[in-house]
Amino acid sequence: MVTGLKDEDLKKVYTVTYKPNAKYGYSAGQAYSVFLQGLKDGKILGRRCNKCGRVYVPPRMYCEYCFRPTDEWIEVKDEGIVMTAVASFISWTRERLETPEIVGVIRLYPSRDNDFVYPGLFHRICTTYEKVKDMSIIGKKVKAVWKPKEQRVGSINDIECFKEVE
Ligand SMILES: [Zn+2]
Repeated sequence: MVTGLKDEDLKKVYTVTYKPNAKYGYSAGQAYSVFLQGLKDGKILGRRCNKCGRVYVPPRMYCEYCFRPTDEWIEVKDEGIVMTAVASFISWTRERLETPEIVGVIRLYPSRDNDFVYPGLFHRICTTYEKVKDMSIIGKKVKAVWKPKEQRVGSINDIECFKEVE
């Protein structure tokens, strides 16, 4: 039999409020270092597999379909199609948001015919909650909104969001 916790059970729990002073360092690695430098320069770079024509964005040094290393860096367009979208009313720090943050996966357009960009970039989408709720944002064409060049630091946030193209 399963029984829920009673209020008095919860009061028995001893809690400590503690704010750790944790600092993290993260090495971006071979693929992401080039990718992030590309963003600083206002370019979205992917890794192309010359066997199957997949262009990996985010970049991968290995083609998971051909079981071989990818071959070259290639710029893709900063436009694409919304594949998934979700509206979050909870911030990263767990506060309730009045205006939801909308994020999703964008499949970018290749810069050359016969290539296809895979699997897609996870990013913010500048759109309304209504378009997420009625799913009309899915399949829409969007374009990157870049930060001004002097504010770019080589981060995924060098792109503010992807905004619908009319
Ligand atoms: Zn391949």
